[in-house]
Amino acid sequence: MKVISTMLLMACVCLYANAQQQKKAPNIFIITTDGLRWQEVFEGANANLVNNKMYVEDTSLLQQLYNDSSTEKRREKLMPFFWNVIAKQGVLYGNRHYNNKVDVRNIYKFSYPGYNEIFTGYADRRFTPNSPVLNRNRNVLEHLNSSSDYKGSVVAFSSWNIFPYILNEPRSNFSVNSGYEILPEEDSANITLNNVQDYVKHKTHTRYDLLTCFAAKEYIAAHHPKVVAIGLGETDKFAHEGRYDKYLMHINNVDKMIAELWYYVQTDPFYKNNTTFIITTDHGRGRRTNSWYKHHLFVKGSGEVWMAMLGPGISPAGEMKDDKKIYLNQVAATVSFLTGQSFEKEAGHSIGGALPVQAAPALNLPVAQPAIAGKAALK
Ligand SMILES: [Zn+2]
Repeated sequence: MKVISTMLLMACVCLYANAQQQKKAPNIFIITTDGLRWQEVFEGANANLVNNKMYVEDTSLLQQLYNDSSTEKRREKLMPFFWNVIAKQGVLYGNRHYNNKVDVRNIYKFSYPGYNEIFTGYADRRFTPNSPVLNRNRNVLEHLNSSSDYKGSVVAFSSWNIFPYILNEPRSNFSVNSGYEILPEEDSANITLNNVQDYVKHKTHTRYDLLTCFAAKEYIAAHHPKVVAIGLGETDKFAHEGRYDKYLMHINNVDKMIAELWYYVQTDPFYKNNTTFIITTDHGRGRRTNSWYKHHLFVKGSGEVWMAMLGPGISPAGEMKDDKKIYLNQVAATVSFLTGQSFEKEAGHSIGGALPVQAAPALNLPVAQPAIAGKAALK
């Protein structure tokens, strides 16, 4: 009898220790907004474009909303959370005016290869179109979902309906809710959400970001997943439509959605001070007045992107002004490093090196070394 009770006690201690360890392991949110140019992030509204009747219906109203003669004020008007919070408490890479660059590593410069690069750390040279093709490459989210610290605690929501293929949902074994896919109705809010989705008349391959964000927030509040990927899509949609007005207004919405999410995280005891946001985009777009709306291999500027990070382990360096280049394929290793998991060894393909971030104190790991031989180094 005594042996049994001792064994029970030991089992309880182990379970408790495991739960504590799982609670301590840092939470990671990867948020992407499709095809948002670094120019709008760092310069705010473009003076030529806000005035251009080809791309803007009401130029004077749009100027009232987002224009200013000062670059600092302009970008803050457009993205107040980025410039009032991230620029002070986190880090922003990619202002090319300082020669601080973030580039994609893949040669194609459109969405599937871009997201593949973000989540797998691997700029695949094999061509995969923006279509429902299951990704061959292993991603960092499925790696985390197979670890003891993160098992069953990984989820993804996206507006674009190709994410379940890019993240290879059947193989990865975590939920990826995308496009106008029905949400599981065991969560009561989802019944309402499914009704709203039903009402959307002209369903495209990209769900309203507001609905994606709402679904993600409801899930986060109910289940407290430790790793969350949120893929927003309308920035790209409005740009492809050549609507600079809608593109700008939506950038402002995206900034607000991220602000609300951060506010939620920092006021929830489960997430507070143990959650890092990594925010980026899958590709750039043209640099010119006549090319800003498009992007591909032959449009100059399509490989130029940006990245923002906020949370424990991220130094409050703000807007980076040093002459350096980082790559989109460094996100996966950075996530792996922050979570103390060894994705590099198990990815099965080469991956870009981690950015110089500090591992969470709970894990007691060293600072990531920026330059790793044979991998994408900071340069
Ligand atoms: Zn895209």
